[in-house]
Amino acid sequence: MLQEACRLIDYMAKTRHHLHRYPELSRNEQETSRFIRQELAAMDGVEILNLPLETGVVAMIRGQGPGPSKVTALRADIDALPIQEQTGLPYQSAHAGIMHACGHDGHAAILLGVARILSSQRFKFSGAVKLLFQPAEEQLWGARHMIEAGVLENPRVDTIVGVHGGIEAEIGKIGLYAGPFMASTDRFTVKIKGVGAHAAYPHRGKDAMLTTGHCIVALQGIVSREIDAVEKAVLSICKINGGNAFNILPAEVEFCGTVRNHNEELRKVIRDKMDRMIGGIAAAHDCTHQLDYVFGMPGVVNNKDTVEKLAEAARLSLGESNVTMLSKPLMGSEDFALYLQSVPQGCMFRLGIAGPNPVQLHTATFDFPDDALPVGAAVMASFILETHK
Ligand SMILES: [Zn+2]
Ligand SMILES: [Zn+2]
Repeated sequence: MLQEACRLIDYMAKTRHHLHRYPELSRNEQETSRFIRQELAAMDGVEILNLPLETGVVAMIRGQGPGPSKVTALRADIDALPIQEQTGLPYQSAHAGIMHACGHDGHAAILLGVARILSSQRFKFSGAVKLLFQPAEEQLWGARHMIEAGVLENPRVDTIVGVHGGIEAEIGKIGLYAGPFMASTDRFTVKIKGVGAHAAYPHRGKDAMLTTGHCIVALQGIVSREIDAVEKAVLSICKINGGNAFNILPAEVEFCGTVRNHNEELRKVIRDKMDRMIGGIAAAHDCTHQLDYVFGMPGVVNNKDTVEKLAEAARLSLGESNVTMLSKPLMGSEDFALYLQSVPQGCMFRLGIAGPNPVQLHTATFDFPDDALPVGAAVMASFILETHK
């Protein structure tokens, strides 16, 4: 299968460069969607589904081979980021301040490559394959939109597989992880309310600023002292707002941040501990507090059986040594989690994109390597051929 995918490298690279040149932000992927539709329409046997989507594209390929009538969805995200590109590439972004810095141009090109392979080999698999070109992953919005538009119904999806490039693995390899793979993402805002005062006479007020300082330091004690050390959790305070002069103690200070972890039950535990701790510190300083904690995206929990089947299919096309089991999960998050909650089984895999000098995702000099395109396409296409028979 890798050879077949390699024959499409020019097509996939050209497609990726086009998408890279014309990146669009989350929920604005109109041109990107139009381009993808146009590419799919040129393939035989690819049906573009008519769903109420703002942006994004869903297509279906029905197998003509014998076997079970399974339905598998393959997902690629298509949105870009608000970053001014600094790669200097010939296909550098033509849209000021917008860039494909997370490799979604690569994911979309891979899925178009898969569409070409599978549409020309319909007699080799049974059932149906849905191709999900999902918008707005960066805002963790698109998966919900697609599910609400009915992408998982008619016919109902049994299994879903998603791809994302990662520099944890070299080009040519993929990384897999069974179980809790990507973290849940919650966000919180804390308001500390005191009484404002002249900076020279703090005893006449109630110092919200000092209280905030104690809270910021103490909150780290939740993860390090109150959570089992073998759990994976992180609490980061990323923004603080308060005061507007060097000599006035403000009456109120606000700070916000995020909690990520890999254990669904811990989310509420951490929230409650934060509330207790902030409340105690505020009370100690005669201030009051308000914690707004928003339970956001759940974690991506990869189904073990799907991971094993994907590993098997990948070994057949890439060779044993190019399929690695990742030693640890990721603290980043993905709205792919929502599909996994709505479909009986599925997983995300990490496509190796690390060259000799790997560049971090979400930076101005990132570029998805073309050599990884056939690898991703081969894995997805062979997963279908191996499981739909
Ligand atoms: Zn991203
Ligand atoms: Zn991404």
